[in-house]
Amino acid sequence: MRYRSTGRKSGLTSLRGAVLRGLAPDGGLYMPAEIARHSPQELEEFRRLPFTEVCFRVVRPFAAPDVPEEVLWQIVAESINFPVKLVSFSPGLHILELFHGPTLAFKDFGARFMARLMGYFVRGESRPLTVLVATSGDTGSAVAHGFLGVRGIRVVILYPSKRISEAQEKQFTTLGENITALEVAGSFDDCQRLVKQAFTDAELNKRAFLTSANSINIGRLLPQMFYHVAAYRQLPVASVPLIVSVPSGNFGNLTAGLFAKRIGLPVAMFVASTNANDVVPEYLSTGEFHPRPATQTFSNAMDVGNPNNFPRLLDLCRGRLELVRREIWGHAATDAETLQEMKSIHDRFGYIADPHTAVGVLGWEAYKREHSEPAQGLVLATAHPAKFADVVKRAIGTAPPLPDRLAAYLKREKLSLPMTSVYDDFKQFLLAQ
Ligand SMILES: *Cc1c(COP(=O)(O)O)cnc(C)c1O
Repeated sequence: MRYRSTGRKSGLTSLRGAVLRGLAPDGGLYMPAEIARHSPQELEEFRRLPFTEVCFRVVRPFAAPDVPEEVLWQIVAESINFPVKLVSFSPGLHILELFHGPTLAFKDFGARFMARLMGYFVRGESRPLTVLVATSGDTGSAVAHGFLGVRGIRVVILYPSKRISEAQEKQFTTLGENITALEVAGSFDDCQRLVKQAFTDAELNKRAFLTSANSINIGRLLPQMFYHVAAYRQLPVASVPLIVSVPSGNFGNLTAGLFAKRIGLPVAMFVASTNANDVVPEYLSTGEFHPRPATQTFSNAMDVGNPNNFPRLLDLCRGRLELVRREIWGHAATDAETLQEMKSIHDRFGYIADPHTAVGVLGWEAYKREHSEPAQGLVLATAHPAKFADVVKRAIGTAPPLPDRLAAYLKREKLSLPMTSVYDDFKQFLLAQ
């Protein structure tokens, strides 16, 4: 598979080129140059084969010829070594738990796969590769854990000071080794801006070997197709039209869903479920896209005012609003609605949902109210409720049980370094390494 840029000014490149660069030279995002569909028979087979085998078959066309099959198999098997669980609330509503990986959020899929892919691609490089990543919470821990101990790679994580929970922060600021965390005096958008500016700084890029681990990296999106397929495999009835509600921030998750649909997965509609940071639902209703500074909410991993995968969504729909509307329906939830929904999910189904998942359920319910044709809803549960214990406590009165993995991190010492939101300070830091 060759990769092209959404900017359409850069030439085609290999998967290796796309993964190591992150962003294309023209500032666009890398896209698979063409996506082959699996036949209905192959899809039916996906419902029977072991999951590792299915993941391997899904990603193989995207990785050939850069990654030999036996290496790819190993990358898949090592990165997706935890379960995807489907919980059915009713025949018409299912929750797909994506949080059984080491950092208890769905980003483990992308981060673990990409780290191993990059590790393979930099073998034999003389300079160490520096992975830059801006995080609003969960990316940082998933990326840090994904890369921890990977040789030839160091990771620099930028996160907004005091805007993420202690549980999130402790998961990536206490690791040491090849992982450095920068606590930025600013917002997530500031962190994202610093990273973007570093990639477009020609002088810096001559002196340092940089790449990105944000969801702009195609290496993170490819493995996110796996669980869309996993859901399809586990649905009790696959014949009722499927509506997939995706709690969204940077829209990497939803983009991966569109990729999965392009390879043949039958999804009737995606719901772009957001919190108050609703630039995409607004685009869907008004046709105008107005990025703006992020607003803080309870579902803070989705506090994104300028979703970085939006160009990919547009590109997949040929830049045409009416085509986007045919595949994606938008809904934005307030914090008050989110809290109330967490309580209602607990009351109705005895299930503790994290705030992001609750935003997803709200999106599905809103869709259902406006569309009467038969459909089944699938909500992606993106984080374990214990990662958002304060919000859960506020919603249902009790905190969820703390998994041992998380409890161990809370006891460890934070090792992050302070950083301003001024680009020159960040650049000096990178050059001094
Ligand atoms: C990152 C994240 C999201 C948003 O995913 P995008 O791919 O950025 O849209 C949703 N929920 C949780 C828990 C997350 O960590």
